[in-house]
Amino acid sequence: MQFQKRTVSCGELRPANAGSVVTLNGWVNARRDYGGVIFIDLRDRYGITQVVVDTSHSPALASAIDPVRSEYVLWVKGTIRLRENPNPRIPTGLIEVLADDIGVINAAEVTPFEIVDDLATNEELRLQHRYLDLRRPALQKNFLIRNKLYQITHRFFEQEGFLEVETPVLTKSTPEGARDFLVPSRMNKGRFYALPQSPQLFKQLLMVSGFDKYMQIVKCFRDEDLRADRQPEFTQIDVEMSFVTQEDILSLTERFISTAWKQILDVDVPAPFPRMSFHEALSRFGSDKPDIRYGLELTNVSEIAGTSSFGIFSSAVAEGDVVMALNAKSCGSFSRKQIDELTEHAKKYGAKGLPWLKMVDGEISGSFVKQLEGDQAASLCAELGAESGDLLLFFPGSWERACTIGGAMRSEIARRCGILDGLAGTYSFHWVVEFPLLEYSEEESRWIARHHPFTAPMNEDLHLLSSDPTHARAVAHDLVINGYEAAGGSVRIHTNPVQQRMFDLLGFSREDAELKFGFLLNALRYGAPPHGGIAFGFDRLVMLLAQTENIRDVIAFPKTTSGLSLMDGCPSGVDDAQLAEVGIRRAVSEQ
Ligand code: ASP
Repeated sequence: MQFQKRTVSCGELRPANAGSVVTLNGWVNARRDYGGVIFIDLRDRYGITQVVVDTSHSPALASAIDPVRSEYVLWVKGTIRLRENPNPRIPTGLIEVLADDIGVINAAEVTPFEIVDDLATNEELRLQHRYLDLRRPALQKNFLIRNKLYQITHRFFEQEGFLEVETPVLTKSTPEGARDFLVPSRMNKGRFYALPQSPQLFKQLLMVSGFDKYMQIVKCFRDEDLRADRQPEFTQIDVEMSFVTQEDILSLTERFISTAWKQILDVDVPAPFPRMSFHEALSRFGSDKPDIRYGLELTNVSEIAGTSSFGIFSSAVAEGDVVMALNAKSCGSFSRKQIDELTEHAKKYGAKGLPWLKMVDGEISGSFVKQLEGDQAASLCAELGAESGDLLLFFPGSWERACTIGGAMRSEIARRCGILDGLAGTYSFHWVVEFPLLEYSEEESRWIARHHPFTAPMNEDLHLLSSDPTHARAVAHDLVINGYEAAGGSVRIHTNPVQQRMFDLLGFSREDAELKFGFLLNALRYGAPPHGGIAFGFDRLVMLLAQTENIRDVIAFPKTTSGLSLMDGCPSGVDDAQLAEVGIRRAVSEQ
């Protein structure tokens, strides 16, 4: 098929080019007919140029242009001229190309949705035809940002002396707290590879090998229930360094983030970033990844609540639990229905109900006001700095549960009150450190590692491992940007006895630890350097830089929240012969 190759893109022509003859290639973004004059907006990834087909100027073009409609692919040869009616909204808006010759490179059927940015079409249809969805300039812009971040990342870490090393995708499972995706082995029937939840163990082994500074932009796979900001396969910037302390990892991260924000958004990010402990983050904001761009902080009102005549509060405190509370400023006008919705939301986080008080015109009302005596209601209001027009929400429960419910309510109130909308385009960066090393899993009746089992305990808490594991803190760090965990890592255990002790604590038998992690335990016997690192959620960074809240907007071919790829229909069935080859038979229920 013959076509005239472009001499310029659709985004670059300006008034200074007037008079030149050029050839454009691109897609028809829009066609407008005014009698003998037809305007065509021709689009490529660089922009849009207005083409004018004046059939009185070139009568032969009338038939060429006749079938052309949106999304046809054209070549257009013509002369640049200044527009009579400039369009200040686009960079090429001062010029147009008067067509001398036009050819259809390829026709297009009517697309299932319009290729425009402010698209109302549902996401399902867009994902089914992702190749069309990706033609939209708003999405293309995200991929330009994504590409910039790849390049900045490689440049930055190269300059800092890091080596990029690829680690395997067919691996033995590394626990990062999610389920593994398994790959059956044909050559070793009955055995499975796991897709890496992260290259954690490999990067640590590279430190044992002496590589000193490792990085990799790498795909990771976690089989967990998805949310708006998660995908089953996602990209990390994975980093590990030897002979470092936590300070070195934090400052490297701060330099990297400042570089990326400066080069992509021209935003200066002051470093060092503020730090808060896990305990502080949870008590003040109800989350280990709080958005601290707004206040709405939680208050522990256990002291007053514990002595109140409201049984739910007093018995909670008597049992060693707490009552956390939130003053939802100016939300006193919330209707019963709105409060019911908040209650349902709180229940998703484990609340049994949502006790509330309101102060309206100096009067206190609320769900449990009748159970209060004397000045108890007034004391609670005073403790929370309540003013007329405020809504007070209370979260009784264990400290962590009560804080978490409070944190969820804090974000929900911020969303409902439009606080988040007002913060669009602003950023806050901070560290959360001193995470608990372990948490107790009631389900498994054993301790599990909060981060992963290779994270080092803080030296001053080593003695707690046997006496009081709940309170042992980890040398772990999470970088939080606008309420998203943008990166997380830790200093690692680098000696065999401590790693062995950790596995003991996590309830692995010696045989089990040997079976699962024998290679790591062995490597730690042969002179492992002290080391630590971090992994950045690459997609999340792009999301933040592109100012979208939907991770699918920054991944070219994403999965839905049920893990489906609507375009190619995966995951899809396989036939019995394929299964037999890898030694798998269907369960009876599936046959
Ligand atoms: N492997 C960890 C993760 O993927 C990051 C790290 O500890 O470096 O979350």
